[in-house]
Amino acid sequence: MIIAIDGPAGAGKSTISKEIAKRLGFTYLDTGAMYRACGLYVVSMGEDPSDEKKVKDLLANINIEFQNSRIFLNGEDVSLKIRTPEIDEAASKISRLKSVREKLTELQRQIAKDKDIVAEGRDMGTVVFPDAEVKIFLDASPDERARRRKRQLEESGQIISFEIILHQIKKRDKADSTRALAPLTAAPDAVIIDTTEMKPESVIERIIDEVDKKRNSKR
Ligand code: C5P
Repeated sequence: MIIAIDGPAGAGKSTISKEIAKRLGFTYLDTGAMYRACGLYVVSMGEDPSDEKKVKDLLANINIEFQNSRIFLNGEDVSLKIRTPEIDEAASKISRLKSVREKLTELQRQIAKDKDIVAEGRDMGTVVFPDAEVKIFLDASPDERARRRKRQLEESGQIISFEIILHQIKKRDKADSTRALAPLTAAPDAVIIDTTEMKPESVIERIIDEVDKKRNSKR
């Protein structure tokens, strides 16, 4: 079974997806981390993540693997390095490029092959896994998402003002939802959940209900 969870930055996708994967015994696939790892690589080579030609040349040197929920870029654990505002932006820029989306889409499908998976991202239900049995679109108000992101950054020792985070979130949402390829949007058959006023536990229960419904209808 594939559970596709899409939505904008800070909607709660990671917390919710990880917990659902844990409870159901599914593999968790963080596709945002893959775009971040590509962004990190290009930035660390001193190149511009919007430069399609340069990025295309560099792509062949990028090897991404997951082990125990950690992400490895060419053998190095970059799980922490990819969580900075600089890489937020690099990932958003690089994710517009066709060559990058093609490479990562293929890799995501390969990882999911023959597995039960909870896949989170922006285009899981629309492009990568259009036949996913359960599709969820998580949303929340920009203010609430900025608050969550601020807390998350603080936990990793990064102190950034609420206003700056809110501005960055709005900018990234706009870029993600207006790009030509695989824009951030809910699949027509996705269940849309606004998590602004919800506790994580209620969101998890709501999604597990959807999974149960799907399983029962298959019997
Ligand atoms: O989810 P996360 O914030 O880690 O994603 C980082 C960036 O990667 C997003 O802003 C988006 O531009 C891109 N992304 C994407 N498609 C996905 C997952 C992430 O374009 N499936």
